[in-house]
Amino acid sequence: MDIDLNPCIKITIDAIGKPGQRTFFIQGETESETITLLFEKIQVQSLVVALLKFFENLHQKYPDLTPENGEYIEENMKIAPPVDPLFRVGELNLTYESDIDKVCLVTKEILFTQDDPNFQNSSFQEGRTVNFWCTRDQISQLANWCVILLQQGRPICPLCNEPIGPEGHLCPKKNGHKKH
Ligand SMILES: [Zn+2]
Repeated sequence: MDIDLNPCIKITIDAIGKPGQRTFFIQGETESETITLLFEKIQVQSLVVALLKFFENLHQKYPDLTPENGEYIEENMKIAPPVDPLFRVGELNLTYESDIDKVCLVTKEILFTQDDPNFQNSSFQEGRTVNFWCTRDQISQLANWCVILLQQGRPICPLCNEPIGPEGHLCPKKNGHKKH
């Protein structure tokens, strides 16, 4: 089952929860529907890296493309309630449709059936897919916003590069003796 959000009037990734316990979501909106999916922080990190590469390659392949406007408005990057995720994202892909100058962010549902004995004899199970059709500007803004979003997590310990929670942490560089 494929869901096409075309065109997305809004696309964002946002996190809910305290630093260190944040849950990440991707949310896209058309005139008629809003879809929210569960995301992992590591997927946000990979997406940021992938998008940098994506735009670099895109402009090499299509040298006449105008540059993206990556300036987002923070207010527009907050997810809107209700936050009711349809599924957890497993696979992520990016494609570019040159005839319509749109970027499609393809998100596939993760399925947990392989380790589940109840599913071993069932026919091939296919996860759902949501296609977020966006402008290059929207995707560029999303990438810039995600960089900030990722920085809003726990502060990093300058000694050992581990994240520091609100309760401090036992720093291996200080032999774990002292919280800081
Ligand atoms: Zn430390």
